[in-house]
Amino acid sequence: MEGPSAPLCYARVTVTTPTAIPVAALVVFTLTAACERKSQEIKREPAQPTERESDAAEPTLPGLDHGLLQSPINILSKQAEGGHHEIAVNLHHADAEYLENKGHTIELDFPSGSSITLDGREYELKQAHFHTPSEHQIDGVTYPMELHVVNMIEPETPDDPPRYLVIAFLYRMGDEDPVITSFLDQVPEDESGEALEPGKVHINEAEMQTGTGDYYHYRGSLTTPPYTETVDWLIQREIVEASPEQIRRIHRLEGDNARHVQALYGRTVDD
Ligand SMILES: [Zn+2]
Repeated sequence: MEGPSAPLCYARVTVTTPTAIPVAALVVFTLTAACERKSQEIKREPAQPTERESDAAEPTLPGLDHGLLQSPINILSKQAEGGHHEIAVNLHHADAEYLENKGHTIELDFPSGSSITLDGREYELKQAHFHTPSEHQIDGVTYPMELHVVNMIEPETPDDPPRYLVIAFLYRMGDEDPVITSFLDQVPEDESGEALEPGKVHINEAEMQTGTGDYYHYRGSLTTPPYTETVDWLIQREIVEASPEQIRRIHRLEGDNARHVQALYGRTVDD
């Protein structure tokens, strides 16, 4: 984390490009003034803690009360190893029963009865939804789309948060995805939903990989409010494909809905 004046001074450098116009010059002046004012303040009041020091004591972001286990993240593939998680899949009732255009995402809802078990803990399959572009990055690369399959354990008391297991699949542009084809024409244009016939949209158990090293794993959060930090993330290493038309259509329906990557704060990614 940089000190308080550093980003402003950095911005002063970046706007002095050959494309700079009088408006940019005004911005340069303003930012320069801000940098100088900040350094004067620090000089006048040497006893006051700087923003950097107070951040070190409690490193949260202004206006947000979440902690340090936030998602998504940039995954460095060479550093992810040594987890050896046990994954078991029970998708016998994984025909989606409801399809929703929620405005900010396309979501498929599943009936109860399917589950995914991670290290002996069984999570019930709830829903799957899309992000365009991808939220997670692999080695700094953002992919055009990401699917989140959300599984949950209901809390034992109302005061406890639910626990989540979210399985993420990153998409590159390539061949058409037959599962997406099975419902894409039926997505409502406006914010509404509709029931799906049994058997129309099915998550195929056989296509889910469950071997050691098939997924990156880390502890994080939901990527939308309330950013609950009880999520075990599994991100499939293998990048899957959807056609450019499929990705463009989903992007047209839901817009840019990816949260940007969050700091690791000492967390590690395993597999
Ligand atoms: Zn999501």
